[in-house]
Amino acid sequence: MSAKPTVAVFDTKPYDREYLTKSPGSEAIEWLFLEVRLDARTARAAENALAVCIFVNDDCQRDTLQQLARAGVKHVALRCAGFNNVDLKAARELGITVSRVPSYSPHAVAEHTIALILALNRKIHRAFNRVRELNFSLSGLVGFDMHGKTVGVVGTGKIGRIAAEILHGFGMKVLAYDVYPDPAWAAARCVEYVDLETLFRESDIVSLHTPLTKETEHLIRAETLALMKPGVVIVNVSRGGLIDTAALIESLKTGHVSGVALDVYEEEEGVFFEDLSGTLLQDDVLARLLTFPNVLITAHQAFLTEEALGEISRVTIENLRRISVQEAFLEGTQV
Ligand code: NAD
Repeated sequence: MSAKPTVAVFDTKPYDREYLTKSPGSEAIEWLFLEVRLDARTARAAENALAVCIFVNDDCQRDTLQQLARAGVKHVALRCAGFNNVDLKAARELGITVSRVPSYSPHAVAEHTIALILALNRKIHRAFNRVRELNFSLSGLVGFDMHGKTVGVVGTGKIGRIAAEILHGFGMKVLAYDVYPDPAWAAARCVEYVDLETLFRESDIVSLHTPLTKETEHLIRAETLALMKPGVVIVNVSRGGLIDTAALIESLKTGHVSGVALDVYEEEEGVFFEDLSGTLLQDDVLARLLTFPNVLITAHQAFLTEEALGEISRVTIENLRRISVQEAFLEGTQV
């Protein structure tokens, strides 16, 4: 048996392996990289591991945790911020420590928001495909100047603020709404806090940056879409559940919404992050969304920068080193 503690990494993608193995302190760990996602059936793959390292779509409910405890696992290290996929109560009862990476790079997510807005508005996704086919026609590729337009930023936390500041740099008027507004920040950055209805009524672009909670679920739905300007553009890099997708599709069909950029989708689990190119798409709602030329979708990749992956790996290893309960675990290593 190896002298180093083993950490079983579930749902491993090539970039996880690359960044985890090159982060400081990595050499003190025996990594067991597994492509399979964690659930009650696959938990036994962690046999003799001291810890498991998991991501957003791994299932860590009670039955999985029981299997992990039986396998000798003492620590679940999430390499993401959200922890809705872990039964914390069960983990506590079973003596399993849970850790996560609460913040890695808000710049990564804010910058992806801007990338989506620019690509959607200037129809870069369509132009790219056309030019590759030697179609150099510009018909149907007319965009609009961002300068002078109004953007409504819903949620001015770490990510929303950075997005608002960048968009202000384009010469846009920035409206914002947050349940906990920060008037000093807004005054310094020429951002105007308004109520949600005003934001919806006056914005040319609405960008969502709140967490998914009971209050924010289906924030964008038929009745809020009806408040918005004809031709509004909607951007969501936060959580799919913020938008009622069926209502969004109806507004796209009438042309009331002129463009949609999404990095998240209500039913993304089991679809996003996977290569399904050889299969038949079973989600009819997603299939319909994909038919619109004015809908641009990325598969939850806003976090995917070198800096964010480096920080996720650094903090995950730090968490493994600090929190693990076994005395020998990484003791004496310099992280
Ligand atoms: P944050 O906690 O710093 O900011 C969230 C803001 O939303 C806070 O200011 C909070 O007051 C506000 N808020 C909460 N409830 C609200 C409500 N009902 N109405 C209006 N505002 C409300 O979070 P963050 O780091 O800026 O991240 C925002 C969201 O981005 C996360 O919750 C997550 O869902 C999403 N995210 C997506 C990716 C990705 O790769 N696509 C990566 C990281 C985060």
